[in-house]
Amino acid sequence: MPNLIFRSVLGPVLLLFSSICLSVQAQEELRSIAEALGTIEELDLRAHVEVLADDSLEGREAGSRGGHAAAKYIALHMQKYGLETAGDGGSYYQVFGKGYRNLLGLLPGTDASLKDEVIVVGAHYDHVGYGSRTDSFGPYGTIHNGADDNASGTSAILEMIEAFDQLEVGPRRSILFCLWDGEEKGLLGSKHWLSAPTLSLENVKFSINLDMIGRLRQEGLSVYGERTAAGLREFLSSANRERLQIQFNWDIQPDSDHYPFIRKQIPTVMMHTGLHGEYHRPSDDIETLNYVGLQSVARYVARTLWALADRAESFRFRPAAMMESETARRTFERFAPPFSKRLGVALDPEMRAGDRENGLRIEKVLVGSPAAVAGLQAGDEILSLNGIPLQTQEQLWNLIFGVEKRVVLEVRNDSTGESSEVQVRLGGSPLRIGLSWRFDKGHPGLAYITRVSTNSRADRAGLRPGHRIYRVNNEVMLTDLDLQQELNEAEGLLELQVESRGQVRVVQIELAKPAASQESESGHP
Ligand SMILES: [Zn+2]
Repeated sequence: MPNLIFRSVLGPVLLLFSSICLSVQAQEELRSIAEALGTIEELDLRAHVEVLADDSLEGREAGSRGGHAAAKYIALHMQKYGLETAGDGGSYYQVFGKGYRNLLGLLPGTDASLKDEVIVVGAHYDHVGYGSRTDSFGPYGTIHNGADDNASGTSAILEMIEAFDQLEVGPRRSILFCLWDGEEKGLLGSKHWLSAPTLSLENVKFSINLDMIGRLRQEGLSVYGERTAAGLREFLSSANRERLQIQFNWDIQPDSDHYPFIRKQIPTVMMHTGLHGEYHRPSDDIETLNYVGLQSVARYVARTLWALADRAESFRFRPAAMMESETARRTFERFAPPFSKRLGVALDPEMRAGDRENGLRIEKVLVGSPAAVAGLQAGDEILSLNGIPLQTQEQLWNLIFGVEKRVVLEVRNDSTGESSEVQVRLGGSPLRIGLSWRFDKGHPGLAYITRVSTNSRADRAGLRPGHRIYRVNNEVMLTDLDLQQELNEAEGLLELQVESRGQVRVVQIELAKPAASQESESGHP
């Protein structure tokens, strides 16, 4: 019965054989990196997960029959896509312990002087088999398929192997694709390889670990290890064309295969989409995964991998990362006390194209603010400032943030309809942009925004506390003074490259000359 064959351990392996036979006939097409990344597809990822997390593999416990079948599946895939053997004795296998097997395949670099350098990308393919008191939240004794943990990471690596095989020109450094065994028994596979490496560890310049990347949710992708090299955060964010929400986590824990690499002082990141109710339970099954999310994560990792393997300089390990935890992150990311309100009103957002009939209507006056002290009230309309008729809110705020202390507003009272002049003593000091920042010692040139003044140019451009500035007018600002000078002296269009949650964008701020004379129109409503 075909069903029986399918259910046997050999089923998935036979399926793979037949797909090799089919693909031999198709002419291989060589691709650019962008095209190659496009071949990493939801359905293919799912197909790998369906094989690896099938009951026939019995939960892929290290050293078990199902574990060996999974290893075979991976080795055949490495062979199909032309990886060089990088295990023992000219094979893809590194055998150790009680019948445990790491899988190791190498894509040689294309640059004569850089090809000795190696980027490691790894994921554990083992899981906990039938589960036990020590490795399962139960119920024990039934198959734990480990679809997310870690058929997800394994399938992403299999798809990357295929994608990199299609490149017209491979990256300059070599890439070692590793599928670790025995992770669930205490990171055995990665530890073993690091103690008995099949190539010189000195040449390993970076490592990526994927563990449980199949459950992308609103919280986004967790990335650990961004502080293991200076400049790594910017690098990881700039590669994020999928616009994943990235949560950078500063903790470094011995909870997966990235840890032994970090202990060896190799810059390392680990990607993870978070724990869930099915974690280490029999219910971690194929239907619980988000395959569209898995595709995004796999493409993102593949692009990152490409960039790491192809960039001019290698990252250098930053030992201080070992001392920095989430506590340190929260301390660094605290906001500054807010700026004093200059005026302290919220304007009706609908009202911008004004004339003498239609002033800028105040929607709200903040208690204790300069506006409140001066007697302004909700409903009042501001017609002019220091004799300058106001056409737009932008014009008002630019003037408010540009003058020293006192302004005279012409205000029309809501109920009486009469206009009068009101003197206001503004709070705080003039602000050209309206933000404060703190430099990150871990990433030279990275300024973390600690506060933004309400209605300032920075605020109106969408900058918020918690954003990070990478560049100003395409230049890296290395010191406080550099940044201060650039923000104070720039004229015309200021371009800030800003990152928030791993997404980089350019924010433009128009720096008109201080409005001494009347401005008829502001360019940015
Ligand atoms: Zn696990």
